[in-house]
Parts: sequence; structure tokens; C-alpha cells
Amino acid sequence: MTPTRLTPDEVVAEVQDLFSRHGGKNYGEDVTQLEHAVQVGLLAEAGGEPDEVVVAAFLHDIGHICDSDAEMIGTYGRHCHDSNGGEWARSRGFPETVARLIENHVAAKRYLTATDPAYSQRLSAASKETLLHQGGPMDAGEIAEFERDELHPLHIRLRHWDEAGKDDGADLTDLSRFLERIRTLLARA
Ligand code: FE
Repeated sequence: MTPTRLTPDEVVAEVQDLFSRHGGKNYGEDVTQLEHAVQVGLLAEAGGEPDEVVVAAFLHDIGHICDSDAEMIGTYGRHCHDSNGGEWARSRGFPETVARLIENHVAAKRYLTATDPAYSQRLSAASKETLLHQGGPMDAGEIAEFERDELHPLHIRLRHWDEAGKDDGADLTDLSRFLERIRTLLARA
């Protein structure tokens, strides 16, 4: 079944609805899903990144939220939250860069744990635990392939924001700026 493409306003409403129903869930490290999404989005914004990167940063864990939602589970199944998030982004008409950044954020962790000892040391306990279920550090072949990806530098930047985004901070419950960016991005696509 091919779902009808939603309009930008409908996608914005869906994102708002998903976060209002599931954004309060614990991300696993003393922040909620919504706070984590806002923190990572703000870091991308502070880095002067374009809309598609900021939006990907904000939505990178949307698959976690989809996994919490009965209707989404029916459409995309559970688990592999990175690839489900990418599929969700494609189905909603986001640019391919957004989908690929979302679906590679776990691969980027597997890459960095294989290539950057300082990164591995900084990894939170929860992130180390999930790494075991995500395939562990990449092997040499996977590293070489990941480095050939033209989005490689962006995958790495997003992963660093993701790890940095687990501290408590200012008001992290206001997602309106990201909803506006989503609307702008989809209207352009
Ligand atoms: Fe994350």
C-alpha cells in the first residue's frame, strides 16, 4: 500500500502530534525524547548548518517515536530505529539527505567507536550498551565503505551532536522553530 503523500502542513501536524504523545518518554539518559531532539537540533543550528541538516538533527530519533506509536508500528515495524526513521522521512517527502542522515546515525556511532578512541571514551553507558545490539564497532571493510559516502562528514557531525545532546540545558521543550524549518524544507522539496 502506497500512502498518499502528506502536505507540508500535515507532516508538521504529524510531527507535533508524535512529540506531544511520545516526546515525554525518557531518552535513557535523564532527558526526554523531545529534549534530546531539541538539543541536537540546536547544536546543528549553532553550527550554521542548512535547513536539511538542522531538520535531520532534530528528527534523527523519530524512529524511536514511531516505534512507540501503534499506527507507525503497523506501517514500519519495530526495531532498527535508524532505518525506520529514514523510511519515515522518505515517505513524508523530505530530501534524501535528511533520510540518509537519519538512517546513518547508528552507523556513524559504529564507525567512530572503531576509529576514534577519544569518542569511545566519551560514550555514555547507555550508548555503549546499545552499541552491542547495533553490531559493535565497524570492521575495516565497513569503515572504508562508510568513508566513501559523500555525506560522511555530516554523518560524523550529527553523531557528535547526538552524543553532546545528552546534558540537561535551558528550555528544551519548544519545538516550534524546528516545525517551521520542516515546513520550509518540505514546501521547497
Ligand atoms: Fe539520539
